[in-house]
Amino acid sequence: MLEASHRYFHRAADLLDLDPQLRLILLTPNRVMKVELAFEGADGKIIRHTGFRVQHNNRRGPYKGGLRFHPAMDEEHATALANLMTWKTAVVGVPFGGAKGGIDCDPKTMDPIDVNTMTRLFVGQLKEVIGPMIDVPAPDMNTDGSVMAWIMDEYSKYHGFSPAVVTGKPLHLFGSEGREEATGRGVAHLVVAALAEDGRKPDGIKVAIQGFGNVGTFAALTLSALGAKIVAVGDYFGGVARPDGLDVAALVEWTREHRTVKGFAEAEEIEPSAVLTADCDVLIPAAIEDVLTEENAAEVRATLIVEAANAPTTPEADEILLKRGVKIIPDILANAGGVTVSYFEWAQNIQQYRWDLERVRLELEKTMHRAYAEVRAMARQHRTDMRTAAFALGIQRVGRAAVSRAQIRRAIAL
Ligand code: NAD
Repeated sequence: MLEASHRYFHRAADLLDLDPQLRLILLTPNRVMKVELAFEGADGKIIRHTGFRVQHNNRRGPYKGGLRFHPAMDEEHATALANLMTWKTAVVGVPFGGAKGGIDCDPKTMDPIDVNTMTRLFVGQLKEVIGPMIDVPAPDMNTDGSVMAWIMDEYSKYHGFSPAVVTGKPLHLFGSEGREEATGRGVAHLVVAALAEDGRKPDGIKVAIQGFGNVGTFAALTLSALGAKIVAVGDYFGGVARPDGLDVAALVEWTREHRTVKGFAEAEEIEPSAVLTADCDVLIPAAIEDVLTEENAAEVRATLIVEAANAPTTPEADEILLKRGVKIIPDILANAGGVTVSYFEWAQNIQQYRWDLERVRLELEKTMHRAYAEVRAMARQHRTDMRTAAFALGIQRVGRAAVSRAQIRRAIAL
């Protein structure tokens, strides 16, 4: 994944004719942390894990990015994802930099008491390098509002009441209205924006969605409320399809109960991977990375792909799809709704003021449409695709901030 994001970076940097020194500065993480977390578990056995936090760039504001509790978490993963966060926050224009981190564990197999202890130990190790104006973590894979509440509590023991140290907190503990739905709604706004450009409306458009978790569910609900037909949905365990459109509310209900779309009666059963090549206008990969590859890219039937997941398209697949004329809204724009409402949460915490849901939704919609228009303008100016344009916009904004703050006298054009 790191290699792919570097490739996209250089493609955009070439377009901007970016100074080689500045490329190096912008690609290198500012700080990489690796900490040992060892303690006696609830059953008396010693538990040992490694925690990571990569602070990639903070030229435009405090570091921002999720914490992932997953056995595959390592320095390379954290670095690649931190890198993407830097461009993502810049593309949507929220005043943050980029970071990512986590712990190499599987919390699903752990005693919740041990997950709590481990999280607090992690905060103990990071307490001087995170903070509302330094680095603001958020939930990611296998971390949720409870983990954020523990982080806020532990951090506040050292620094006083600090709700703004993390986002994605529960609503009753200074979380924001609309945070849970934000990424999926943001994806839906971009589908609307991309269709509008071709004079189309979501009404009657056929959509296929891979992944029916937080992001996939809210993207499906928002798009079907706008009249789109959700024709295929898949998750880790199975897939379902209905050419006339699935009953999304019923499917959400089913999934809440059974933890998978598999077995949903009012649909035809399909292989999970068949969702990617389903007969549809819009494809939304909203599950995991590297699912669109050189093996299946030629079979994708959608004409618009909106990357809700991080890095779902390999560079090889990207090339094939672009040659075929498929429009791709890249991850650093497509799934930025989450970090946008995280910014609203942080702003509310700093101001000690609460926004209502209507305001959050309206500001999110404005932000996503503005970001789309700005990336589009960059794509037109340089006659390039949306991914390269989004990277170029992010690099330009971070690069300009870096150059101004460094008081470099030699002119670097950006
Ligand atoms: P989630 O855990 O709630 O849901 C993930 C879904 O993907 C589940 O339905 C799961 O069954 C499915 N899935 C997992 N492996 C699969 C496989 N091999 N094939 C098909 N389906 C598979 O996660 P989420 O929060 O909805 O996040 C989805 C993606 O969006 C991730 O890539 C995440 O990094 C990205 N993302 C999420 C947010 C957010 O705010 N939640 C923000 C930005 C990016």
